[in-house]
Amino acid sequence: MFRFHYYQQNPYTKMHQNFRQIAALLLVLVTISGQQSVFEGLIKTIEDGEAQWSIEPPDVAENVMHQEYDFIVVGAGTAGCVVANRLTENPNWSVLLIEAGRSENYVMDMPILANYLQFTEANWGYKTEPSNQYCMGMDNQQCNWPRGKVVGGSSVLNYMIYTRGNRRDYDNWARLGNVGWYVPRVKTDPYRVNKMPDKLSTYEFRCRSFDEVLPYFKKIENFSIPEYSDPTYHGKDGYLSITYAPYKTKIADGIVKASYENGIRYVDYNGPTQVGVSRLQLSMRDGVRASSSRAYLHPISSRPNLHMKKFSMVTKILIDPATKTAYGVEFVRNGRTYRIRAKKEVILSGGAINTPQLLMLSGVGPKKHLKSLGIPVISNLKVGYNLMDHIALGGLTFLINQPVSLRTQKIITNENLKQYLNHHKGPLSVPGGCEVLVFHDFSNPNDPDGYPEIELLYIGGSIVSDPILRKDFGITDEIYDAVYKPIENAETFMTFPMLLRPKSKGRIVLKSADYRVKPMIFANYFADKQDMDTIIKGVRLTLNITSQPGLQALGAKLHEIPIPQCSKYQFASDDYFNCMARHFTFTIYHYSGTCKMGPRTDKKAVVDPRLRVYGVKNLRVVDASVIPVIPAAHTNAPTFMIAEKGADMIKEDWGDERLSCDINFK
Ligand SMILES: Cc1cc2nc3c(=O)[nH]c(=O)nc-3n(C[C@H](O)[C@H](O)[C@H](O)COP(=O)(O)OP(=O)(O)OC[C@H]3O[C@@H](n4cnc5c(N)ncnc54)[C@H](O)[C@@H]3O)c2cc1C
Repeated sequence: MFRFHYYQQNPYTKMHQNFRQIAALLLVLVTISGQQSVFEGLIKTIEDGEAQWSIEPPDVAENVMHQEYDFIVVGAGTAGCVVANRLTENPNWSVLLIEAGRSENYVMDMPILANYLQFTEANWGYKTEPSNQYCMGMDNQQCNWPRGKVVGGSSVLNYMIYTRGNRRDYDNWARLGNVGWYVPRVKTDPYRVNKMPDKLSTYEFRCRSFDEVLPYFKKIENFSIPEYSDPTYHGKDGYLSITYAPYKTKIADGIVKASYENGIRYVDYNGPTQVGVSRLQLSMRDGVRASSSRAYLHPISSRPNLHMKKFSMVTKILIDPATKTAYGVEFVRNGRTYRIRAKKEVILSGGAINTPQLLMLSGVGPKKHLKSLGIPVISNLKVGYNLMDHIALGGLTFLINQPVSLRTQKIITNENLKQYLNHHKGPLSVPGGCEVLVFHDFSNPNDPDGYPEIELLYIGGSIVSDPILRKDFGITDEIYDAVYKPIENAETFMTFPMLLRPKSKGRIVLKSADYRVKPMIFANYFADKQDMDTIIKGVRLTLNITSQPGLQALGAKLHEIPIPQCSKYQFASDDYFNCMARHFTFTIYHYSGTCKMGPRTDKKAVVDPRLRVYGVKNLRVVDASVIPVIPAAHTNAPTFMIAEKGADMIKEDWGDERLSCDINFK
């Protein structure tokens, strides 16, 4: 029997004290930056931050770890931290949370350093297979696909942008047959006994999925943007702080103004409607990253019924082939193999690349593919299919005539460091330079309640503002030297026209039955022509906004040196931008859908609408891989929502009636 304790001390008070220690470290760094590259120094600082004191749950010692837990959660990322928190609310349940990566540290959570984290061990460092359709201007024609390998997962590497998407995204999930995707409260409801309909019933039409998920979005939030306090749309009591960055550039003001002049109104895009322009709402608290671990694990780090194992890679789900029941996991740490049993369930929260890999390694996946690798098949499912992502045309750069952009070398000054470390304010509080977005519906441009096809994501700097960015993007030296080197000292900003509702789908495939070999990723971007057409429309919208007085006041002007491989096309023609998008293809890192949620009738479904893996008992997936159709949103908030909702489903299925989210159906 476990006893239940809450964490007594406000973790942020301790964190603040700790920042003072880091301040000394960073000031030394700046002082020595004349002798050694400041950028290498910053990466080293992030690595060294490991030694800093942390209040995340400790790594459980071998002699304390049990042989059996009620639940085993694989992966302490965005979803895994939420699930571990919610399940350990029941003091009678024990949970082992297993994470392949290291601890998160404070330096990782300084917003301006977001771009640097991809060069630390906290990144799995995936790459797509080479292609001659996309990422053609990247080294070896492969796109970089970073992914968090750290407590907090990709919520530690991400840019903290918090967007829910459109209500129609979730209504569509219901329309696809996920009509039971809510917490049933009525005993007579057929979904209570988990009967899934063979075809869509009339029930679907009175049950809108967005009404079901909205309470979970609100449950996540501790929302603190004063002008948007409508309790119908925002929560105040959740674990995750949502706010604006404490600092904005004049560029951000210019973009908002120019958008307005172009007919785009300012909007709370997480409110009743989505289309419009806005500064970014961020998962941030007091100027510091609010990762999933900081939000959901730190406040409960002393719960005795939660054990956490770090630096531990789960290599196999233990499934009884006769009963097809999951009963535990195998994991490797420091070369030693451990087998731990789960009394109730194994929950996979390894993310949209690792979860399908682990399922396939364990015999759950496409029969032919698994057989070709000699893996015995337990359940023949379309694992790894339905891979979706949001992409943008990268490198769309604008020159300005005022010294107001976020250039790293300019802003890492003693003054700005002091301001950040003492007050968490100033230019270092802007996550990777991301500042403003525009959601736009081309089909119904005048509808204030539109369903956007494009997001314009604006950065208060560009590829030349920070030498690390060209490495993040993976762009070849040939393109960088020809296009961007000539403007290395210029003041710039950048826009990513980002496709929100892609039609193209890719696939993840095992390369080997050895868990150490990374799977192959076929992103398949632009397989559907419409995807490219929408991105080009997004570029045109960006150009229109740039021509407005708000941005002309800064002298904003498109950078016009063409990509050499595209110079055969007239600059700024549709053909040119098509070529540019294929060379400078930019992932927004929203990989999802590879263990698709769907009714039994959906041949591509891997999990049912209660997130249980078809054909295997006591095995669930709770992470971004269950997303059936990618929402018009950055995927962190939707993944938090899935995890909150998934945790309630698990509680209900195991007889814990203390569900914290009441949903009333009309
Ligand atoms: C660079 C980057 C920037 C992004 N920016 C944004 C943004 O600004 N806004 C936004 O909304 N979204 C953003 N995203 C996407 C968002 O962060 C993800 O959609 C979300 O974090 C996915 O959550 P998850 O729980 O599915 O997976 P993850 O958060 O990736 O968690 C998976 C965890 O499982 C662990 N794991 C995997 N396999 C194993 C194994 N076999 N054994 C043990 N542990 C394992 C991993 O190490 C990781 O910690 C970004 C992502 C990246 C990479």
